[in-house]
Amino acid sequence: MAQFEDNFQRKFYYLRLSLTDVCNFKCTYCLPDGYQTETQRPQFLSQPEIQRVVTAFASCGTSKVRLTGGEPTLRRDFSDIVHLVSSTPGIDRVAMTTNGFRLAKSAAEWHQAGLTNINVSVDSLDPRMFHQITGENKYRQVMDGIEQALAVGFSQIKVNVVLLKGLNDRQLPAFLDWIRDLPIQLRFIELMQTGTMDDFFYRHHVSGQAVYQQLLGQGWIPKVRACHDGPAKVLAHPDYQGELGFIMPYEKNFCASCNRLRVSAKGKLHLCLFGESGVGLRDLLQQDEQQTALIERIQQALGEKAVSHFLHDGHSGMTPHLASIGG
Ligand code: SAM
Ligand code: SF4
Repeated sequence: MAQFEDNFQRKFYYLRLSLTDVCNFKCTYCLPDGYQTETQRPQFLSQPEIQRVVTAFASCGTSKVRLTGGEPTLRRDFSDIVHLVSSTPGIDRVAMTTNGFRLAKSAAEWHQAGLTNINVSVDSLDPRMFHQITGENKYRQVMDGIEQALAVGFSQIKVNVVLLKGLNDRQLPAFLDWIRDLPIQLRFIELMQTGTMDDFFYRHHVSGQAVYQQLLGQGWIPKVRACHDGPAKVLAHPDYQGELGFIMPYEKNFCASCNRLRVSAKGKLHLCLFGESGVGLRDLLQQDEQQTALIERIQQALGEKAVSHFLHDGHSGMTPHLASIGG
């Protein structure tokens, strides 16, 4: 099968698959009022549907799948899903993004099921601020989870930190101290404006570039990018075991290295985090015999992928918050 590619010669090795929209945290920049239950019980992708979508992507060059959400580990069948994705021919990396609440308990089980990479969100190393930002008093639980994940053999742990002016932007020294002797990559993510965000964005957005420049002045050195690397800019330092990654969607050329596609928990293909309403795939996920039609639909949609997200023009697409299509 031909590799998934768009009109700008971008190839897609990487699928971000959302398993659920539901979340048990209330992050101020994502679901400040918590997950709002729908009137009808939402039907998220079943295991056979997940198997079919991953098989289609794998047969067109995708080698990495990230399981996300909402909070993906709220799915009771999470371990089974990891196992089915990691057993799909062609998939060599299965990653997840999690708020970490189940990590301490289940890291070993997920490692055994074939999970290879973990991103955990930790917006502050101060328990009180962690509570303030996430709405949950679970700092200790999440940190124990990271320790446990390292202990059971995950060597690729990344910690996502959304940069927030007036909140965690003054805690850079504590974050740096933390990774001096730990093999963790901290990922500083610039706050993105989503549909439901009012003045929160203007109050708390801080440019990642300013922090990046400050660190260059402190002996941090840019790492050379490999051809499959995504848009993060990575820094290393001879005195630190950990690394720093910067995800700056408001930077010029951020979209040029885009190598990912998204499928939502209800089976819609999203060409961009800030794209429009998505392309429904679910009707073609019902039988194995539909694989060719499924691939054709994805290929056709790729012809429509825009060169950039146009966030600079104040355009935030139809994404109400990142939990809705898997951040
Ligand atoms: N619940 C999981 C978690 O929080 O890690 C996975 C889903 S969450 C939507 C994925 C990532 O998106 C998290 O690291 C979160 O901090 C980030 N995120 C959510 N809303 C964001 C926003 N408006 N701007 C930047 N990052 C955001
Ligand atoms: Fe939940 Fe993740 Fe959104 Fe926080 S960022 S509310 S943990 S989905």
